[in-house]
Amino acid sequence: MKTLEQLQFNNTFSRLPTGFYSRLQTTPLAQQFLISFNPAAAELIELHASEAQRADFVDVISGKKLLPGCDPIAACYAGHQFGHYVPRLGDGRAILLGEVETASGQHWDLQLKGAGVTPYSRSGDGRAVLRSTIREYLCSEAMHGLGIPTTRALCIIGSQEEVYRESIEPGAMLLRMAPSHVRFGNFEYYFYTQQFEHLKTLADYVISHFYPQLAEEKNPYQALLQQVIKRTAELIARWQSVGFAHGVMNSDNMSVLGLTLDYGPYGFLDHYDPDYICNHSDHHGRYAFNKQPETGLFNVSCFAQAILPLLDEDTDAGVALARSALNEYEAIFVQHYAFLMRAKLGLQTAQKDDQKLCNDLLAIMQKNQADYTLVFRSLSQQDASLSRDLFMDRSAFDDWYQQYRARLLQENSQDSSRSAAMKQVNPKYILRNYMAEMAIRLAEDRQDYSEIDRQLGLLQSPFEEHNALERYAGYPPEWAQRIAVSCSS
Ligand code: AMP
Ligand code: MG
Repeated sequence: MKTLEQLQFNNTFSRLPTGFYSRLQTTPLAQQFLISFNPAAAELIELHASEAQRADFVDVISGKKLLPGCDPIAACYAGHQFGHYVPRLGDGRAILLGEVETASGQHWDLQLKGAGVTPYSRSGDGRAVLRSTIREYLCSEAMHGLGIPTTRALCIIGSQEEVYRESIEPGAMLLRMAPSHVRFGNFEYYFYTQQFEHLKTLADYVISHFYPQLAEEKNPYQALLQQVIKRTAELIARWQSVGFAHGVMNSDNMSVLGLTLDYGPYGFLDHYDPDYICNHSDHHGRYAFNKQPETGLFNVSCFAQAILPLLDEDTDAGVALARSALNEYEAIFVQHYAFLMRAKLGLQTAQKDDQKLCNDLLAIMQKNQADYTLVFRSLSQQDASLSRDLFMDRSAFDDWYQQYRARLLQENSQDSSRSAAMKQVNPKYILRNYMAEMAIRLAEDRQDYSEIDRQLGLLQSPFEEHNALERYAGYPPEWAQRIAVSCSS
């Protein structure tokens, strides 16, 4: 484990030509202090957790006191937002301090969100509010705990600085980490500005650093497209399987590594409602929970369009390659989702009516407003009455349960081993909106940050029992049935 000074930086993105990013400095917040530190993320970069106690830790992490090897930049990108192409976005409030290289050769971007204005801020202030920072911090670690690819989060820095949103809120910063933050939108920018040399440079960069095995393929760019499609389809299958709605699936929020990226007005389902819209600015439900699989296809189509000039010198041939790659998306999604849902039901073999069995359960859950997480966890518990109690229409549940038992019998399923396996895939705890809200209220109103750390530990191992925190394993409280989360963050 290392001290801050011992971290090795190897900044590969900032060695790309200018035109990919702007060099700049972070703008520290007024009277910064450490709010929460995540030792699990520190371990990834081999940073000793005790470094967080250093008097100058916050100055270093906020970029106020630059470590040797840091080279702060903001990246340039575009993207489709709510279906419309926006030609120039870029890191308007995120600044990449540098890339840490570990002893085993792994790379981690250290990216600060809320670090001040950049050339891409447009009319924004380059800041993040404490509320959104807590939400991203908790959710990215919760997703990791659930086994879902995501950016990670090292710490939250608080401040006395006032930030103006619908009301005045405290400003904060999040230090997030990922092998790369490159988005579909980075590719779109070079396609739509017809900078095809840069497009190739970016694709070569992504292949050589993150998909090195593809360099050997006959057509590495086609292989890259196929991989991005596969990872995206599988990522969204995972979201659907845990009841996660991202809320702003714009193509600039889609990672070329298939990571969950840019947590804004996301939400986990409480009761099963496929039409759930978590983003309160999404009036038409474009990014509703059940729209995510098709939105994923829209987004990978944006990526395919952007990478088209690299696929083949002949446009028609390139289009044919892109089409055939995109045609795979649905099957990959369906197959992966079926695999995940089978595991949630504790089924070991694949049979043709499994999807129907699952859909039938979802249908009665929807009708009965049964809680998504509680139903699956209860099914893991070898006590049908626990599940039954979650449905108003008990006989509808009983009918379904009979089919389920019959299906289990077909594969000679053993109750105790099935139960153990199901508990590893059906979380006991998820980050319900009310939980984040509680952590936020305590932080904002009382400068009490203990709830953030408490939930962090819980959400990092959501399949385990946490007896002292059993209160988080039940229904959301009445006051939080429907918290609308705004896009402004
Ligand atoms: P988001 O909705 O957070 O994914 O952001 C969309 C775009 O707006 C990105 O280019 C962000 O960098 C930018 N942006 C969002 N909030 C701010 C802000 N407060 N200041 C500057 N740019 C912002
Ligand atoms: Mg974004």
